[in-house]
Amino acid sequence: MGPPDKGMKGKFHPEQEELIKILKVPACYQCKRCTNGCPVTFAMDLYPDQVIRRVGMGQLDKVLTCRTIWICSSCETCTTRCPNEVDIAGVMDFLKELAIEAGIEPPEPRTLAFHESFLKEIQKRGRVFEGGLMQRYMLKSGDLFAKLRDGSIWDDVSMGIRLMKKGRLPLLPERIKDRKEIRELMQK
Ligand code: SF4
Ligand code: SF4
Repeated sequence: MGPPDKGMKGKFHPEQEELIKILKVPACYQCKRCTNGCPVTFAMDLYPDQVIRRVGMGQLDKVLTCRTIWICSSCETCTTRCPNEVDIAGVMDFLKELAIEAGIEPPEPRTLAFHESFLKEIQKRGRVFEGGLMQRYMLKSGDLFAKLRDGSIWDDVSMGIRLMKKGRLPLLPERIKDRKEIRELMQK
């Protein structure tokens, strides 16, 4: 798709504009239901409704450099709550990808490690397998070695065992149909 215009002052490219329409950004009427339901607004510098507003106005410099896109945990609460079916979580992912392409460093490198691990997991299995995601993330972020060094890995192992006993952490990934289709979609 290509990075946005150099200096980030320009408008989105026509194909990016098209995606913004598919994500239904123009339908936003600023009711703020997305922001009111978001569990991590306390750490954001722009609220989800403000991000959508700025995307609608083509303010690339504001949205690609804000912390919000990296704080977003892709929980999709906002998308579910939106009365106009604006895919706010999808917009956040789209902006993350644009920021990466434009070479903008995320404020917290571990967030990028998580984002990339999450996408890889979807690409490989068609859905997230928590065990696989954690392995990828721990290796990518360097947390595995840090935790091995300070011994805190055993706290994680113990929590993992407790979650497994409660049936909250599956041992094996579920297989889904049409993985090839998802892979092709993600490449696109
Ligand atoms: S919930 Fe939907 S319509 Fe309301 S502010 Fe958020 S994106 Fe806009
Ligand atoms: S997907 Fe992101 S912006 Fe939306 S509610 Fe979840 S954390 Fe907030």
